[in-house]
Amino acid sequence: MSAVRIAVVGGDITGEDVDAIVNAANSSLLGGGGVDGAIHRAAGPQLLEACRLLGGCATGEAKVTAGFDLRARWVIHTVGPVWRGGDHGEADLLASCYRASLLRAAEVDAHSVAFPAISTGAYGYPLHAAAEIAVCSVRQWAGEAMAVRFVCFDDTTRHAYDELL
Ligand code: ADP
Repeated sequence: MSAVRIAVVGGDITGEDVDAIVNAANSSLLGGGGVDGAIHRAAGPQLLEACRLLGGCATGEAKVTAGFDLRARWVIHTVGPVWRGGDHGEADLLASCYRASLLRAAEVDAHSVAFPAISTGAYGYPLHAAAEIAVCSVRQWAGEAMAVRFVCFDDTTRHAYDELL
């Protein structure tokens, strides 16, 4: 039996009232556009200071900082793959982002986690394929009980998740 409860919601992940929100970061972890920029703006400048100490992050992996001014206590920074046609390990790397993020969440005793649609913005991953990987990877979580929220910034993203759930 899955230890995961899944919800799909629309909106801005920075306002999520969960233990941890996941950031779709780039490998420098020093901020960027899209959801990364929004999270840094909402968390305040201390987030960048904390990220500087992490020394970057490889694609498919995840690292944790505090959430600072966010409602969420933690930010889990993960680096999705850039879409390069699909035969460069993108699917495995994207699945790894979701698994690694849930592992980091469990390590800090977070039991509710909000995810954005990792890699589907600037990184160009086809939305439907990415949503399928997100849902499958999270459903496979076999650790402690976890409430997962997929936060969809636009209607197209929301439809993709709604179709799967
Ligand atoms: P990536 O570089 O991993 O593709 P992006 O930030 O460009 O990351 O986009 C990932 C997803 O996050 C896209 O669906 C984008 O619309 C969405 N997004 C952007 N801003 C926010 C936000 N504030 N809250 C939730 N999702 C967001």
